[in-house]
Amino acid sequence: MSSNIELIRICIYCNNEFLARTTTTRYCSHSCNQRHYKAKVKQNKINTSNKETLKHKGYTGSVEYSEEDNCLYGKVLGMNQHLISYEGTTVEELQNDFTTAIDDYLEDCKEDGNEPKKPYTGVLNIRISPEIHSKIATLSKEKKVSINAYIKETLLLHLNLL
Ligand SMILES: [Zn+2]
Repeated sequence: MSSNIELIRICIYCNNEFLARTTTTRYCSHSCNQRHYKAKVKQNKINTSNKETLKHKGYTGSVEYSEEDNCLYGKVLGMNQHLISYEGTTVEELQNDFTTAIDDYLEDCKEDGNEPKKPYTGVLNIRISPEIHSKIATLSKEKKVSINAYIKETLLLHLNLL
């Protein structure tokens, strides 16, 4: 009995069939392996930066670290010109300063009779033509990501934020 079994496997990155040399090979090529690795690293970075935020009454604040001043600081996100910042030497101090800053802001608005600025939520409806919608659906399917993830990445690339 000869054991000339050819292993046909599916690349977990590009989904193409390929002839595997071992049962543990998961990529059709080195470049697929590398691209998948890079994509995972990037996704990890995005996940981490999403986690490092503070939340209070619908507002989200960034968490940053200043090596120079050896302290944590941040600003409320999505407020544009209405800058609300806070700082602290520990995460707990930062969290307290953050919630106080927002409570103060809301209190000030109330006293002055102003409507508090609602933070941008990051959730919005975008109106595009059905043709573009369909094209994006196809492209995101090819990349095996959601339409939302595809639009987000394209937007970030365009804005030089990636
Ligand atoms: Zn591949």
